Amino acid sequence: MTRFSTRAARAGINADPAHGAVVAPVSLSAAYRRDDPAAPGPFDYARTAHPGRDLLARTLADLDGASGAVVTASGMAAIDLVLNDLPIGARIVCAHDCYGGTRRLFDARARQRGFDLVYADCTDPEALSEALKPGAALAFFETPSNPRLRITDLEAACALARKAGAVSVVDNTVLSPALQRPLELGADIALASLTKLINGHSDMVGGVVCVREAELAERLSWWANAAGTGGAAFDAFLALRGLRTLPVRARVQSEAALELASRLNAHRGVARVDYPGLKGHPGHAIAARQQDGFGPLLSFELSTGVKAAHQLTQRLSLFTLAQSLGGTESLVAIPALMTHAAMSPEARAQAGVGDGLVRLSVGLEHVDDLWDDLAEALEHRA
Ligand SMILES: *Cc1c(COP(=O)(O)O)cnc(C)c1O
Repeated sequence: MTRFSTRAARAGINADPAHGAVVAPVSLSAAYRRDDPAAPGPFDYARTAHPGRDLLARTLADLDGASGAVVTASGMAAIDLVLNDLPIGARIVCAHDCYGGTRRLFDARARQRGFDLVYADCTDPEALSEALKPGAALAFFETPSNPRLRITDLEAACALARKAGAVSVVDNTVLSPALQRPLELGADIALASLTKLINGHSDMVGGVVCVREAELAERLSWWANAAGTGGAAFDAFLALRGLRTLPVRARVQSEAALELASRLNAHRGVARVDYPGLKGHPGHAIAARQQDGFGPLLSFELSTGVKAAHQLTQRLSLFTLAQSLGGTESLVAIPALMTHAAMSPEARAQAGVGDGLVRLSVGLEHVDDLWDDLAEALEHRA
């Protein structure tokens, strides 16, 4: 098999049987003609399947080493799709410091369907075993977690889930398959928001669920068609285009993030930096082993508190104050007020998301320009 970057660069190339277009065209048709009323062709109706989504799903399944993939209209739709396979009252173990939107959805679905939902510190094997004990159906991991960048040892965590009889799911949004492939580490499902690093250009919203076993992939496809959660044609085209440069972007953005994390770590105005690439990070050794890079996301707290952190975000000019991550443009966010505002203050405290935590998503601007911008904003405060 060819290498990851080769397969990514060839995503959807030479895949047009009609005209021999090098880049697969966008097929916007909602319906596909039949020659025989009893026999549909490969495509029938675009909610069920269309060529662009199909091509993207096959490519992402291949890159993640999955037997099947379902492309959805958003990352949250991908997460919700997985919950469709659970019976009422099923026990779910979820990382206590997962994405705020995931927690909001899990809480609401648990109330509605009587799920026995437990949040656990999945980076702690004892806490995880304890949570999995009473026969959990699903274990939901996120590593590195957003925004504190905690690292879960996926081989160990997925083995514990398997022993308990639970399906293990990894939200791989922060790294993408270019930097971490959860199925190779024992997970049953690797899902991601395409909106972030995979598309990488902040111009579409989408998600994907990559599944190890064909039977489970089939069941999730069934739900995606029944409920109409599949992604749209133009979004599939954009994600496929973004995917071709994913390995290069992921590498350059990770290198810049490490450089900025190191410089912030040495700055007297910074109280703490969370970045798994730093040697002092508690998850550094595991991250170095299970990841192919440390990713574009880092967080930090200032020694001068919450107000100074909020002011800092407004003094930056090369980091746009906005939600999202993984794009070619650098972004800054205050998770407590933005990405994780849907969590209760207690849940944020449990997850270690302080009111003054600053999160950076590092893009493709020159790293020295990014640092100059940060350094200037930090000095202003001092
Ligand atoms: C953004 C994000 C999601 C949700 O993805 P959408 O495409 O915005 O629905 C899920 N998990 C993580 C870790 C994210 O950062």
